[in-house]
Amino acid sequence: MTQIFDNPADFADEALDGFVAANRGYVARVDGGVVRSTEVPAGQVALVVGGGSGHYPAFAGLVGPGLATASACGNMFASPAAGQVYRVAKAANAGGGVLLSYGNYAGDVLHFGQAQLRLNAEGIETRTVLVTDDIASAPLDQIEKRRGIAGDLTVFKIAGAAAEAGLSLDDVERLAIRTNYRTRSLGVAFDGCTLPGADAPLFTVPAGHMSLGLGIHGEPGISDHPMPTASELAELLVSRLLADKPDDAGTRVVAIVNGLGTVKYDELFLLFGKIEKLLTAAGLTVVEPECGELVTSLDMSGLSLTLLWLDEELEQYWAAPADTPAFRKGNLAPRARRELAGPEAAETADVERPTAAAAALGRLAADLLGQTQNVIIEHEEELGRLDAIAGDGDHGIGMRRGVDAAVTAAEQAAANDGGASPSRILTAAGEAWSERAGGTSGALWGSAIIAAGLALGSQDSYSGEDAAAAVTAFVDAITELGKAELGDKTMVDALVPFRNAFLTAFDAGTPVAASLAAAAEAATAAAEATSGLRPLKGRARPLAEKSLGHPDPGAVSFALIATRISAHTDTSSTGTRLATSEPAEQGAQA
Ligand code: ADP
Ligand code: MG
Repeated sequence: MTQIFDNPADFADEALDGFVAANRGYVARVDGGVVRSTEVPAGQVALVVGGGSGHYPAFAGLVGPGLATASACGNMFASPAAGQVYRVAKAANAGGGVLLSYGNYAGDVLHFGQAQLRLNAEGIETRTVLVTDDIASAPLDQIEKRRGIAGDLTVFKIAGAAAEAGLSLDDVERLAIRTNYRTRSLGVAFDGCTLPGADAPLFTVPAGHMSLGLGIHGEPGISDHPMPTASELAELLVSRLLADKPDDAGTRVVAIVNGLGTVKYDELFLLFGKIEKLLTAAGLTVVEPECGELVTSLDMSGLSLTLLWLDEELEQYWAAPADTPAFRKGNLAPRARRELAGPEAAETADVERPTAAAAALGRLAADLLGQTQNVIIEHEEELGRLDAIAGDGDHGIGMRRGVDAAVTAAEQAAANDGGASPSRILTAAGEAWSERAGGTSGALWGSAIIAAGLALGSQDSYSGEDAAAAVTAFVDAITELGKAELGDKTMVDALVPFRNAFLTAFDAGTPVAASLAAAAEAATAAAEATSGLRPLKGRARPLAEKSLGHPDPGAVSFALIATRISAHTDTSSTGTRLATSEPAEQGAQA
């Protein structure tokens, strides 16, 4: 499946362009996603949704009057970058503030969170409501840790209708939070999905079995069960969701049977009929249900059931009209088209001319990025396989996209007349990495490279202290943004030992290159040791048991890169300069 493309790397972009071409009455393309092509009344709250591509009609298909104002669209199954979210929200803003709403995934939280900070800093009041409906991903008392699946639709629909009715940002946010709190979903998969250009599915389900508690990015289910009959499946989904119902649930529910990709409508309807009977028998009234493809996962064979327990206010907004490419309900007054500028050309930064010495060091930074690219290319598949054990299998692809973009940006900067300083090379590379890679690791690597670049600045030479400050800035950026702690089973478990080993060696008088070698060794050992941990952060957390016995992909990729950079620093001619630079004052980095 997913075989129609010229180049798999362009799949998401070209699919989005075609979607816009087919729906110009609804949406226009902006840099980073799509925005309504019809007038948005001045002062209306802008609902900006989004996430990775591959989930159609989520998210771009839900843009239109009565529903979302705009959608930030990332690469396949990867979060849009902070810059994309920011630009889409700016295009959507009609003066009433912005509500960002999306499924609770670490990468999306990082990128949308950074965009929110930027928007608020510019005076565009921006709030966030995460969708956390998947009951398989965490227990009820940790509802804030649950990931978002088809519950996206209920939250977006009610928030969008509230914005359409002219409610304030406070009220739209309040209703979105309440809708999320009263929405529960559970999914099953009969077979995995395959990313464009990949030769194997992200996971498989044993023949004759069903996987319960799937994610929507090819994360495998929580447990495998023998294939049930339709009646047994209906019973299983309904009983699990009813057991998880919210306080003050009431008796009126929206029921959504959602197809994830290749389950036929006839099968969905067959199941819906049984589900409706069970809900009615449980004393519930089913209100304006949906049955069809609403939040998909490429060609995954699977489905989910969502229940939203209504109250009077929520029911009013659920039932309100909406008119989008993929979701239509009732009637709205026709809207005038609005004129939108096309995607803005990339900003051209004003280029300072570095000294020849600074440019030579910039060249070294670009070479080290080239080494990073080589090691990622060599290990891309292995990193993907590691991430597929409990995550979504995209760590190799994501690192590759990020590092390719970083190297291209670094080489472009270096090709400027007079070259570029380390700071310029690294900030350009970090921004490109974050923008193109998407995903959790993309946001973290991008920010860390930028932070290291800013710490280095533009100088004619660097002391060992400067190198230590760059290492510290790199690690701090990741812990500040990702908020993971030691033992959470993330790349932080390799980063912190790396930093500590580096500073310990350096403070004891070891030259930079040898300190780096010690640090890379510590990172490799620490990455291996993550095998014994259960993930407490990131996409792999719901499948903690499957992850046990395997190292964390982000920790492994960091250790591989650290080792390669250390080896290169040891042997390259420029590295010799680092290797011989002595620490100036001992203990300064304690
Ligand atoms: P995604 O999880 O969005 O698919 P990747 O697969 O590229 O992104 O990266 C997964 C890696 O990201 C994990 O193996 C882990 O090392 C790292 N990671 C996830 N969450 C965090 C976090 N909060 N802080 C630091 N690293 C994290
Ligand atoms: Mg992943």
